[in-house]
Amino acid sequence: MAIHEEDIERVRSGVSIVDVVQQYVALRKTGRNWVGLCPFHAEKSGSFNVREETGRYKCFGCQAGGDVFKFVQEIEHVDFVAAVEKLASRAGITLRYTTGGEGRDRSRRKQLVLALEAAVDWYHQRLLESPDARAARDYLRSRGLAGDVARRFRIGWAPDDWDLLSRELRERGFAPDVLHDTGLAFNNRSGRLQDSFRARVMFPIFTDTGEPVAFGGRILPGSTDPAKYKNSPETKVYMKSKTLYGLNWAKNDIVAQDQVIICEGYTDVIGFHRSGVTRAVATCGTALTEEHVRILKRFANRVVLAFDADAAGQGAAEKFYEWERKYQVQVSVARFPDGKDPGDLASSDPGALAVAIEEAMPFLGFRIDRVVSGVPLRSPEDRARVAARALEVINEHPDVNVRKLYAGEVAVRIGIPVADLARQAETRRSAPVSESTEVRIAPVPEFNAEFAAVALLIQRWDDIAPWLIEDLFASEASRRAFVALAAASDAEASSILDAALTTADPEVVELLERAAVADIEVAPSSVAFDLIGVAVRRRLAQRTKVSDPDEIRADREARQRLEELDAERTAQAAAEALLWWLTERSQ
Ligand SMILES: [Zn+2]
Repeated sequence: MAIHEEDIERVRSGVSIVDVVQQYVALRKTGRNWVGLCPFHAEKSGSFNVREETGRYKCFGCQAGGDVFKFVQEIEHVDFVAAVEKLASRAGITLRYTTGGEGRDRSRRKQLVLALEAAVDWYHQRLLESPDARAARDYLRSRGLAGDVARRFRIGWAPDDWDLLSRELRERGFAPDVLHDTGLAFNNRSGRLQDSFRARVMFPIFTDTGEPVAFGGRILPGSTDPAKYKNSPETKVYMKSKTLYGLNWAKNDIVAQDQVIICEGYTDVIGFHRSGVTRAVATCGTALTEEHVRILKRFANRVVLAFDADAAGQGAAEKFYEWERKYQVQVSVARFPDGKDPGDLASSDPGALAVAIEEAMPFLGFRIDRVVSGVPLRSPEDRARVAARALEVINEHPDVNVRKLYAGEVAVRIGIPVADLARQAETRRSAPVSESTEVRIAPVPEFNAEFAAVALLIQRWDDIAPWLIEDLFASEASRRAFVALAAASDAEASSILDAALTTADPEVVELLERAAVADIEVAPSSVAFDLIGVAVRRRLAQRTKVSDPDEIRADREARQRLEELDAERTAQAAAEALLWWLTERSQ
């Protein structure tokens, strides 16, 4: 079911975006805008703008932006229909539904989740009861993952068979294409539906609200299958970069402790839970992404990496520092004795897990420690070498004060003069993290005349549109924004802005979103006259080889009009004449 377009517009006009945002964000009025601290990234001074007239919000720090529905979608993590429903009930509007595209998507999603739920149950029952799952049960028992643990985490067993699951689910009424789209099955070379997982221990993966969306399957020891883990493919309901295994079980404790532990594997997450640390999650066969960090930031500010962060690949350190700064999270690293993983430790030494989390080191401290400890420091050459390597690591950090403090620590630790190393950390020779990764904090947006004109077109179309033509815009992005808005003004749409946004390219969308919340104090006509004056001067400067007497006269008159443009009494007539002159000479 989808919601009637009309009703969506009734809801939009029936609620105040300022009121809605104020339920989540404290806003204060500046000019005609409302400004507050952005709820989508951490900041200390407000760059989050909301504007009632255009019904839009925009953050100048993280570029989040959109209309009231987008805001509810983003902040509540719901889909479009749910956002409309929420706002409708708030505004006391009864919605009518159709059977349109949006509704098809929703019921499709529901079908896929139902099929996945059925598969979770079926795999789980197989594990608990089926004779062919004996080896799996033995394996899980040996790892401490049997009984209550298996039940709690809904662990299952995919039998060593071609299509047992597919046949079972089809008998229960699930269509072949549904099974295919869940990633549970695929069409094999002979065109028959075949199960995706075979002879594997199955770890179901849920959304944070507990809907199953995928599986991770592990082989048993001794299997000849080269892939130890196999994951569901990405589907309509499963995106790896946005999914964290275990978040459904962990989120309450994550919030309560303001800390989340990120592991590498499913059994690590379960290991933490078994040892009483119930705030662990894992990425699903991918590296940690910015999307993951954004999601986790909703729940906690402290992030502990429970995997080998140094081995996380080139550029990982850079990313972590950037995220620390952008999302104001503190990243630290837990170390486990003897290189054991949390899954192993849960059985052999469960207390060690809590200790490792308690003693987690700040990310940079951890990396330096890896360089400095365990290396011989017998000769001056040894010390110089270690100092140089430590300095390389230190200099990846973007904050000069942090660099100096760590440089001092390293110097003391390896016995070289503190001042020397601190000075080198100050200037950052290697400096691989560019300053451009720094997050702008509440920049005051620069409004040039072209941007102001675009903003006024969105906000006060009738007052400025008659004065504008494409040739007035010298910047490519502003020009394209103008063209998109002008084209949209001809279209039958609820708002020119919405129509323009649907056709514009990303750069222009970005500009339009900023313009929609820009607070322009200047009168529309004076913005337009400015642009006209600049454009005429620009064009005159290009016309150096005019020989036609009429054209020479016209140019002379244009120069005269430019002066009249500055006087209030004559400005309007001059602007009209100049606009005409420009249009006539349009390229
Ligand atoms: Zn933001």
